[in-house]
Amino acid sequence: TKERSHEAAAGDSNIRGRKEKMGARPVQIVVAKDDHTFELDEAALQEILLQDHVKDKTVVVVSVAGAFRKGKSFLLDFFLRYLKAQGRADWMGTDEMPLDGFSWRGGSERDTTGILLWSEVFIVDLPTGEQVAVLLMDTQGAFDSESTVRDCATIFALSTMVSSVQIYNLLHNIQEDDLQHLQLFTEYGRLALEDSGTKPFQKLQFLVRDWSFPYEAEYGESGGRKILDRRLQISKKQHPELQSLRQHIRSCFSDISCFLMPHPGLKVATHPEFDGKLSDIENDFKVQLQRLIPMLLAPENLVPKEIAGQKVKAKELLQYFKSYIEIYKG
Ligand code: GDP
Ligand code: MG
Repeated sequence: TKERSHEAAAGDSNIRGRKEKMGARPVQIVVAKDDHTFELDEAALQEILLQDHVKDKTVVVVSVAGAFRKGKSFLLDFFLRYLKAQGRADWMGTDEMPLDGFSWRGGSERDTTGILLWSEVFIVDLPTGEQVAVLLMDTQGAFDSESTVRDCATIFALSTMVSSVQIYNLLHNIQEDDLQHLQLFTEYGRLALEDSGTKPFQKLQFLVRDWSFPYEAEYGESGGRKILDRRLQISKKQHPELQSLRQHIRSCFSDISCFLMPHPGLKVATHPEFDGKLSDIENDFKVQLQRLIPMLLAPENLVPKEIAGQKVKAKELLQYFKSYIEIYKG
């Protein structure tokens, strides 16, 4: 199988590679501390990015950002299933399989504002023949006080700077204050970067959860485009602030799109014993997952990370992380 050939290609690290896969887990890379400073766990990041079969490959970094308890980690667990299945059509798994991955982390750790990476890096062959290293990034933030909004802005900015796809996860709709937050976050990021003449960031994917007006705009990408066009429209009639907010967002990303997800059903949203099995998830939601995830992660749709127009290798990403965290340290 494809997976075997990757392992064979890894040569000596074959056995170790297997062990790591079995123990694959979310690793906290950046922590916001109580005094609102930020800390990079350099050793943990090195362990992921400097693996022999990873360090010289171009990276694809997919990040999910947004407020707490809006289903980010739950979604990432399906990304993991897709990547582990290496192109198999039945990637979603069987009905009774509990979901694991990012969301299997209990306790108070959940509320730590920061950035997590999945420890396993997925090597994928692009249609061009190039192999890329796909990294999944989970972010956590709370928006409950002014200082934590600033922490969130930093986490959002950092994750946008190091990712090639930033998924902005929102509940119900794209509201004006979501756009205002986005402006703040991206301004934090843009100020930190040297002006290279190109747009500073790559793909921004709005993801609206629990969309409940499918008769107005249908689930998925085309309905998403409709809502996004409406929200990001600039007109002379708008207050100048609203106009400049929209211009700012458009000027930051080379590609912006939106996807509307249906509600996953009451068992997912409210049941304390819910373990993620497919049989407890509404069919509409599963249908849209089958569209969303390949749209982001199929080999032909992967977006290699670029900084100032140059593709970034895993070992270089480590350096970028280190220099970006310096900016926000104080
Ligand atoms: P995170 O804090 O954003 O990472 O959120 P989690 O992934 O930990 O999910 C928080 C809760 O929301 C869990 O109980 C999930 O079962 C539930 N959940 C997951 N996806 C959705 C969704 O699309 N809509 C709703 N309403 N709940 C969801
Ligand atoms: Mg989470």
